[in-house]
Amino acid sequence: MKVMKFGGTSLANWQRFEMAAEIVLTSAREEQVATVLSAPATVTNNLLAMVDRVLAKGDVDEALAKVAEVFEALYADASVSLAEEARQQLKKVLAQQLASWRAKLAGVQLLGECPDSVWAEILVAGERLSAALMVEVLKAKGVSAGLLDPRELFLGVGTPLESVVDIAVSKPRFALLKLDELRVWVMPGFTAAGADGKVVTLGRNGSDYSAAVLAACLDADSCEIWTDVDGVYNTDPRVVADAKLLSQLSYQEAMELSYFGAKVLHPKTISPIAQFQIPCYIKNSFNPQAPGTLVSNLPDQTGLQVKAISNLDNQTMFNVSGPGMKGMVGMASRILESIARAKVSVSLITQSSSEYSISFCVATLDAPRVKWALEQEFELELKSELLEPLEMRDQLAIVSLIGDGMRTHKGVAARFFQALAQASVNIIAIAQGSSERSISAVVEQRKTRHAVAACHQGFFDVQQYLDVFLVGAGNIGAGLLEQIKQQEAMLKEQHISIRVCAIANSGKMLLDAAGISLADWQPRLNDSSVAFDLTQMLAWAKEQQLLNPVLLDCTSSDVIAGRYLDVMNAGLHVVTPNKKANTRELAFYRALRQTALAQRRQFLYETNVGAGLPVIDNLKKLLFAGDKLLRFQGILSGSLSFIFGMLDEGMSLSQATAIAREKCFTEPDPRDDLNGMDVARKVLILAREVGLPLELDDIQVESVLPDDFDASGDVAQFMVALPQLDAAVAERVAAAHAKGKRLRYVGQIDESGCRVRIAEVAADDPLFSVKGGENALAFYSRYYQPIPFVLRGYGAGTEVTAAGVFADLLRTLNWTREVSA
Ligand code: ADP
Ligand code: ASP
Ligand code: MG
Repeated sequence: MKVMKFGGTSLANWQRFEMAAEIVLTSAREEQVATVLSAPATVTNNLLAMVDRVLAKGDVDEALAKVAEVFEALYADASVSLAEEARQQLKKVLAQQLASWRAKLAGVQLLGECPDSVWAEILVAGERLSAALMVEVLKAKGVSAGLLDPRELFLGVGTPLESVVDIAVSKPRFALLKLDELRVWVMPGFTAAGADGKVVTLGRNGSDYSAAVLAACLDADSCEIWTDVDGVYNTDPRVVADAKLLSQLSYQEAMELSYFGAKVLHPKTISPIAQFQIPCYIKNSFNPQAPGTLVSNLPDQTGLQVKAISNLDNQTMFNVSGPGMKGMVGMASRILESIARAKVSVSLITQSSSEYSISFCVATLDAPRVKWALEQEFELELKSELLEPLEMRDQLAIVSLIGDGMRTHKGVAARFFQALAQASVNIIAIAQGSSERSISAVVEQRKTRHAVAACHQGFFDVQQYLDVFLVGAGNIGAGLLEQIKQQEAMLKEQHISIRVCAIANSGKMLLDAAGISLADWQPRLNDSSVAFDLTQMLAWAKEQQLLNPVLLDCTSSDVIAGRYLDVMNAGLHVVTPNKKANTRELAFYRALRQTALAQRRQFLYETNVGAGLPVIDNLKKLLFAGDKLLRFQGILSGSLSFIFGMLDEGMSLSQATAIAREKCFTEPDPRDDLNGMDVARKVLILAREVGLPLELDDIQVESVLPDDFDASGDVAQFMVALPQLDAAVAERVAAAHAKGKRLRYVGQIDESGCRVRIAEVAADDPLFSVKGGENALAFYSRYYQPIPFVLRGYGAGTEVTAAGVFADLLRTLNWTREVSA
């Protein structure tokens, strides 16, 4: 004998219903079947709403209409395939049920309330109508079928709306039946009757449990739960799109999983089948060929330590605390007993080791009853202030990790909490089951999806997402998007998915949480009707609950840089080539790092110095390893590297500048390069990196343009005036050459301070041969002297800079906090 349970989604309409019947039929060819049915999807909810409506003084017939519609349509569609006699029989059953509902609703209306026992009678009728139809459909398909009445067979113990079945009493009742007479037995789920014969329900979603009890009572060979997904996934597939199907689970794992919220199984389901060692399959009625998930006592073949992650929503946490708690024997048991008397089950409990407080969670629905029960129990203690007033906090959820293999493994909790921290999820309480099969954290319910997705990512090597918010769609921004597009496929193979959620220029922005197509972002941004507003963008980003949002600031805007604290406070990492933030006042520089630390966000700016050259990171690593900078000298400007290289070859300053400009080596206005401020900013960033508390004003800057030179006017006027400097510069070049040296525009840090200047460098200096737009940085340090540590390569240009930003972007995935300098 096999038990097969079909859930509401598998019976939602006639087409689904018939498919379920076919699945039963296929099995019935092999062996005898007992099937348990839910009400068609939506029915139980609609029955609840129906009563509520009448209680709110609504009209009885109107209230009934929605439920009646579902069954009338289902029965009418089914009738076509049935014989006349069956049709009449079903018509009668439905008419009687509608009349019974109507009569009960009239009573409710009159009374102005609905006693729980009446609620139960109204609710279970949905499953009864499912079962009556299934019997006729199976008979029409040529198999002998009949009803099992759970009101006669299952003894319910508990409250009218939340009972369990006493198997010891119920099982012998089956022995009295002539089960061999029929091939298929059909039982309405969700239903039992108390000792007084009154109908009770087994709790919402309770048909799974009916099936498990039936399997136990019949000593079935197996129990199949047919639903709308391929089996049990490692997390709710509605929450995490790439949830993984589990091939097998132990009874204990399935129990923890359902207990902690996986809706696919009712929490009470596993206990009876585990007790009688009945293998249980979770299968998909939409995809009957799929093997499903096996819940059994077979040894684990998956090798997974953490099998699944679940979330239990709508929780309220109570905190009982006070000076009277300390050392008072029996406090915990008094708390638990009073909750039990209120017939409420506790989902999680923790006690502080000081014994000063006990916290526990219950379903929010039950919270008022628990509050009342505790206030009764502790009336005296509360009055005498031995206990503080009860604290209650709602809108919470419990996120749990489940797996038998966790027992023997260290570090699981650490990874759990790290994943939650990475997703900026605050942990309100934690508990580990003493079986070590589950670890749970209480979090704010609005963070549930975020928390589950972060844990899923942390424990199962699946796709990691980077959610990009790009501000500044000029050369570097656009170049970066192009690189992201090109690398998309390769990164996917490495399980990295970059979703560009926002693109903005100074005027407009484009937002799309699913990811903006990189094929046509430019025209779409131009056509966008949304004005760029960083505050609005951040608010939107927060709403999306993204796992790894990153602001890429590819502007050179001081205003955007000034907002980085807000950006990190809104939960985004910041990655930027923009030097403005790091060269603002020192207090802001420090606040950036403090905020990054506090918010556990990354602030990455590797491209601030030397574009794509790995300068900052290497410098940091050296310092962490105990190195100390003694002296620094570098060529930090690509345009000035080019210009000074050309001077060596006898070209004049004005000519070299004109060519550099033509080749786009300079800023649109070459004065921005020649005045030395760009290099000064880079020197300041390096100086601050090695711990010097300097401001931009502290950098001495020798501009290529002397003070007495009139550099005013527009760019064209400036270029006309520039030849006035050619002779003096040529003279300095010649003087250097005479000494076997070359002129270079260098940034320096040494014990006397920081400078930017035109320097003569000797042939043995690493900067001697650097030209043509290359950058070179020579670090003389405790470890690297007298030969310095030198980084050399192109330090400007769209591609290398965009690639450097790209590398920083990918580093945000490696979240483990870096040591702050
Ligand atoms: P039925 O009507 O068949 O009883 P339910 O809606 O009660 O179906 O349960 C199936 C649903 O449970 C799935 O559609 C899925 O969204 C949800 N679910 C939650 N957690 C899990 C999980 N870990 N694995 C599979 N499904 C899950
Ligand atoms: N119909 C009931 C409910 O929706 C029982 C079930 O389907 O499991 O709660
Ligand atoms: Mg269900």
